[in-house]
Amino acid sequence: MQKILENALEIGRKYIPEGECASYIPELAKADKNHLGVCIRTRGMETFSAGDTKERFTIQSISKVITLMVALQHCGFDKVFEKMNMEPSGDAFNSLVKLDLTSDKPFNPMINAGAITTAGYLVPDVSFEDMLNYARRLCLDKDIVMDEKVFRSEMDHCARNRAIAYLLQSKGILESDVEKSLELYTRMCSLSVTAESLAGLGLVLSNGGRHPETGERLIDKYAVQVAKTIMLTCGMYDGSGEFAVRVGIPSKSGVGGGILAVVEKRMGIGIYGPALNEKGNSIGGSHVLEYLSKELNLHMFAAE
Ligand code: GLN
Repeated sequence: MQKILENALEIGRKYIPEGECASYIPELAKADKNHLGVCIRTRGMETFSAGDTKERFTIQSISKVITLMVALQHCGFDKVFEKMNMEPSGDAFNSLVKLDLTSDKPFNPMINAGAITTAGYLVPDVSFEDMLNYARRLCLDKDIVMDEKVFRSEMDHCARNRAIAYLLQSKGILESDVEKSLELYTRMCSLSVTAESLAGLGLVLSNGGRHPETGERLIDKYAVQVAKTIMLTCGMYDGSGEFAVRVGIPSKSGVGGGILAVVEKRMGIGIYGPALNEKGNSIGGSHVLEYLSKELNLHMFAAE
């Protein structure tokens, strides 16, 4: 396994020169684009790591998975999807074009419009501290904190998300306080994780939301089922279709360079690689996952 991970990194590293770190949040541009790490945590409680798996970075859009699951557990399916769809958008994660022109609902909870809507469901009753505790438990990582610098940097440069949030309010989709919803959304994006924490989250999700060792239920199993399905169809932004064909593992990426991947009933995989492709997905990380999927027969439709 260790050798396979090293090979995967070697392949992934070849693509790094073609990618760039996100810079629309200035603090993210400071990342070292050559970092690349992969961690696998299995149901048998084995951990395999290669490369930069202890490096902390911000979770960004991968937090949308946590927010969605907590909202489903807290408010129920009908409420969460009353004013939001579950279809791939085919547009960039921060697009507001279709939201204004062709649809009165956000396409899905994995794009910014959907995740801000979801944060709005939580704002009245669930505090950021509660959400931080969920993140620590679900990622099996008690050291997760909010990266204050990245949070400030994004809040100072979030005109686009603010525009989305006010557009949502104008359409009657976002009923909670706009600024509070935007702040909770941005705080969740600023949680600092490692590739290991993402592998932990993946492991919990692969286990239907139970702690892999103690069996304790950490999150509602139906919420996990919904989240994994939406990860498969929408988790890699407008690159989700090709990713599903090539890799075939429900995954979620973030512009901090993380990828969370869930291999059903087998393992969680966490990736860190801040050089992104044009869709905003870790370029090295995507190739690492494609290689691992083939090498370890992880594609959900692979023959035995
Ligand atoms: N915080 C980022 C934003 O809202 C998250 C985007 C992402 O990871 N795709 O733009």
